[in-house]
Amino acid sequence: MLNTQETESACVFCGSRHPQKTIIFPQTFTAYQFVQAGNKACSRCAEMFTDPKYRRNSWIIRNGKFEAIENVPDFLLNLPSPPFLLYLTKAKRKHGWIRAVQNPVLSTKRFILIVDEDKIMFDDKTYADLYVFAKNLYARRIPKTIMLSGMPQPSTHRKYGLTWKESFRIRELQHNPLWRVIVEFFKRAD
Ligand SMILES: [Zn+2]
Repeated sequence: MLNTQETESACVFCGSRHPQKTIIFPQTFTAYQFVQAGNKACSRCAEMFTDPKYRRNSWIIRNGKFEAIENVPDFLLNLPSPPFLLYLTKAKRKHGWIRAVQNPVLSTKRFILIVDEDKIMFDDKTYADLYVFAKNLYARRIPKTIMLSGMPQPSTHRKYGLTWKESFRIRELQHNPLWRVIVEFFKRAD
């Protein structure tokens, strides 16, 4: 039997029962597609909604502890044991964190990775494989633009010493969301 009272008393963000805090959505809030009906939130989500650190950082929350992630590609290669919440952001101003609280990571082999407001299927073996390829290109100073834009010109091949095999693989990967995560989050050490 559907209990209307209980339906109404779920956190608008994560759906947990008996939320205590009243949320006032500011005019600037536009991410209503991620929010459930109502205006109550649990205390955790209410804090996440008001504290900008949850929008401006990539983070993990494990055992209730928030930790900003500095090196995203390396972090994804060595994930801690689940369960945890994980959110990655490039834009640093989106409300994808709401999707992150709705999609807790229960297995690091395969899970839904939230990047800004997008959902990406993460698979650890695929990721490790792409990471090695990206790291190799990066070490040879292949620019990110080439790593993301697909088939480079023959002149680019010569300039950067790319093999045709690598070049074809880059082209195959250009619309692969996991590949784009690795490349876009890579930071040069120098
Ligand atoms: Zn909540």
